Amino acid sequence: MSANPNDPTINWEKLAPLIPHPGRFPILQELSTKQQVALLCRVLFQEGYNDHIAGHVTYRQDDGTMLVNPWELAWDEVCASDILTIDANGKVLDGRWNVTPAINVHRDMHTLRHDVRVVIHNHSEWGSVWAACKRVPPIYDQTSALVDTDPAIYDEYLGTVNDESAGRAAVEALGEHKWALLANHGVFLVARDIRQAHLRAITLEWRCRLAWRVEQLGGGSPLAPQVAAGMGAMTDGNGFPFLWEAMARREIRRDPRVLE
Ligand SMILES: [Zn+2]
Repeated sequence: MSANPNDPTINWEKLAPLIPHPGRFPILQELSTKQQVALLCRVLFQEGYNDHIAGHVTYRQDDGTMLVNPWELAWDEVCASDILTIDANGKVLDGRWNVTPAINVHRDMHTLRHDVRVVIHNHSEWGSVWAACKRVPPIYDQTSALVDTDPAIYDEYLGTVNDESAGRAAVEALGEHKWALLANHGVFLVARDIRQAHLRAITLEWRCRLAWRVEQLGGGSPLAPQVAAGMGAMTDGNGFPFLWEAMARREIRRDPRVLE
């Protein structure tokens, strides 16, 4: 993968006024989808998606199978060869690890939302704080505004996603939203591709952390809603060039085994 005009996950036409020479930046080597899923787990671990071995990332492939990180491994140790391939019922087709029993919520989401390729659930460090308070964090800075819209708050959650009916209810509660705070539990978000999933996940966590800090100081003035919405629609909708690649490179430098 490189940040070039052929990258289908970025709308270069819309971004052309900002980036006149996108082809000058061959900034990440070609990666398999399993390598990208492993990198996404690791990068998000560094960003606060780090509740021990909790959480799952799924990626729906064209043939209806899904890639998922294994139950047994923490997100910061997973390698490409650890990523499982499962069928639409959650049965492991390829891989040496177990799949989480909580896969049902991902399976239901992929069944319901055909616009979605990537589903992420975790108990992120700062997202879980706002989820516990059942409050939407205000947008206090530019980075918090990289994705538009507020997360849905779902407060009927039963504490695990293992239960079939609870999993389906969570999926229905998300509806057409991009992301949700699951009360007393964690976060849940969906995206059309790896880059958008990365941007949404890091933006939600950043927004939650910054808002907590601002409120610790007695509060501040959120960005004007139209400014935040305009910025988020641009970056989330058209793809944020170079950011995912930079974070992926950082992780590859930290531990090149992620690609194995
Ligand atoms: Zn959970």
